[in-house]
Amino acid sequence: MDEVTKLMVEQLRDAYSAEKQALRGMQKMMRNATSEKLKQGFEMHIEQTETQIERVEQALERLGSKPGRKVCEAMRGLIEEANHEMGDHDKGPMMDVVIIAAAQRVEHYEIAAYGTMVALAKAAGQQELADLLAQTLSEEKMTDEKLTQVAESEVNPAFIREARSEEQEGANENRRGGARRKAS
Ligand code: FE
Ligand code: FE
Ligand code: FE
Repeated sequence: MDEVTKLMVEQLRDAYSAEKQALRGMQKMMRNATSEKLKQGFEMHIEQTETQIERVEQALERLGSKPGRKVCEAMRGLIEEANHEMGDHDKGPMMDVVIIAAAQRVEHYEIAAYGTMVALAKAAGQQELADLLAQTLSEEKMTDEKLTQVAESEVNPAFIREARSEEQEGANENRRGGARRKAS
């Protein structure tokens, strides 16, 4: 196996582990999400991810290799962080903001990884391999954009609304308390 192939195999094995971990991570994110749009987005990307895992397997096969036991440490960290943060919140708008923040970190990692692999495959003259991985790259980019859209159109406004109304309730509470103190 030449050096270029060796490096591509390493990158693909990392991606394989990353996708598998992302899949499980997204299943949990979907369960914790409240926004219907966000849930649907996860449902779709989970399905895409299953195909992406198959693409990585195909790519490895093309290079005469197999997934192997490599663990993507970065994805492990991203998912671990997401799980910690989700544990700090109840379901609702704030949880949805936290989920989107975590999910976009995952997509950005994948975009970096597939961007590199596509470029490497192209440079090595492996156009078919580049095309295969470019499909995944474009799905990751679209998912990232969709998450931004859901955040901007729905989740962030809902979070701000909720946070403001809780502050307002707190202020009203204080005022009532003050009135009572004056009366007594
Ligand atoms: Fe992916
Ligand atoms: Fe990695
Ligand atoms: Fe993804």
